[in-house]
Amino acid sequence: RALRVGLTGGIGTGKSTVADLLAGHGATVVRADDIARDVVEPGTHGLEEVVAEFGPDVLTADGTLDRSALGEVVFADELRRARLEEILLPLIAAEAWARLEGVPAGQVAVYDVPLLVEGQMQDMFDLVVVVEADLDTRLERLAERGLGAEQAMARIASQATDAERRAVADVVLLNSATLEDLVVEVDSLWEEQLAP
Ligand code: ATP
Repeated sequence: RALRVGLTGGIGTGKSTVADLLAGHGATVVRADDIARDVVEPGTHGLEEVVAEFGPDVLTADGTLDRSALGEVVFADELRRARLEEILLPLIAAEAWARLEGVPAGQVAVYDVPLLVEGQMQDMFDLVVVVEADLDTRLERLAERGLGAEQAMARIASQATDAERRAVADVVLLNSATLEDLVVEVDSLWEEQLAP
């Protein structure tokens, strides 16, 4: 089977950038954020379950999921958020697993998953790669995406800590410097631990 790599990091650390660089080396990248959208597309069992739980008000007029309506419900209510996760997380995990299993033997399959630690997924992988960056650097990158310092800090606080991610990491990539520096780090990770 393929070599399975779990790739994670807090928001603004550069996890998706690392995923892109690994794809450039020939890895197949599966992104949890993409799957999270796919499992609630119209016609899916996932969307059916969400509507059964939260009611038709979480649908737009054309029958797609109204994310902002759903967001308002779940961010105001911890129990309902837990319920939504109870519906979606197993669907996301099953789909991710199916896609990773589909990667041919001898190749590298990367799962880009923000909540690897929170979801206790570390044992699914041959190698866990954690991307880290200084807090100031993360805040700067998030600001460029329009996320204010206060919002950014709240999101960071809602995720696992650097120490918690480090505890499950086989490899830690530091991404506080330039993109060129990151490329050098990812190139050596590829050569030393991933290249088939
Ligand atoms: P999220 O979890 O929020 O999706 P992420 O950790 O996947 O974030 P990226 O989307 O990869 O982070 O990176 C955040 C932003 O920072 C992007 O605009 C990216 O281009 C930029 N970036 C990443 N690494 C560097 C770097 N070393 N130097 C400058 N900019 C960088």
